[in-house]
Amino acid sequence: MSAESAPSDRSARHAARMARKKALIDAAIASATDARGLLLVITGNGKGKSTAAFGMVARALGHGMKIGVVQFIKSRTDTGEEAFLGRQPGVEWHVTGDGFTWDTQNREQDIATARRGWAIAARMLADPSYQLVVLDELTYLLSYGYLDADTVLDALAQRPPMQHAVVTGRAAPHTLTELADTVSVIADEKHAFRAGVKAQPGIDL
Ligand code: ATP
Ligand code: MG
Repeated sequence: MSAESAPSDRSARHAARMARKKALIDAAIASATDARGLLLVITGNGKGKSTAAFGMVARALGHGMKIGVVQFIKSRTDTGEEAFLGRQPGVEWHVTGDGFTWDTQNREQDIATARRGWAIAARMLADPSYQLVVLDELTYLLSYGYLDADTVLDALAQRPPMQHAVVTGRAAPHTLTELADTVSVIADEKHAFRAGVKAQPGIDL
C-alpha cells in the first residue's frame, strides 16, 4: 500500500481541520464585542510603518471619518501621501519637521519644531471630532527627549474614548507600547536602498 493517503481521505481530513478552525475563529470573533478608540504603534526597523498608517487613513476616509495627520521630523512636502490624502476633504495634514536631526544639526531648533508639531497633535488628541489621529515619526521625539514623555503619554491616554490614534517610528519606548492596544514591529530583512536604489516615488514617498 502506498504511504500517500488517497485524495478523498486528505480532502476529508482537510475539511474536518478547517471546520474546527472555523469554529474557533467564529467563537473568537463572537467574543470580541468591544468598540472603542484604539492606540496603535507601528515600529521596528523595516519599511512600511508610515505606509501602514496612511493605509488606515485611506480606510478611515472610505468610512467618511475626520482625520488628523501630523508628520514629525520629515521636511519633505513632495510625498504622494500628502499630495493625495492631504487634499481629501475630511483630512487635516501637517508636516512639521525640519528633517532628521543630522540634517538640521541644531538641537534647540529641533526641540522648538517638535513642540510646534506637538501643539497641533495635542489639540487633535483633545478634540473628539477627529476620529483618527496619525502621529507619524513621533517616536523619535521621545527617544531624543525633544518632548516630555509623560506629557505625550498622558495626552494619548486621555484622548476621547472613540478616537483612534496611530503612532509610527523606530524604537518605540516601552511606556508607549505598554499603553497601546495594538503594536506591530516591522522587521528589516532586506531593503532596496542597500542595493543602491534611491527612494522611489509611489513606493518610498
Ligand atoms: P515607509 O514610509 O516607506 O512606510 P517607514 O515609515 O517604515 O517607511 P521610515 O524610517 O519612516 O520608515 O523611513 C522612511 C523612508 O526610509 C522611506 O523612503 C523608506 O523606504 C526608507 N526606509 C525605511 N526602512 C528602511 C530601511 N530599513 N533601510 C533603508 N531605508 C529604509
Ligand atoms: Mg515612516
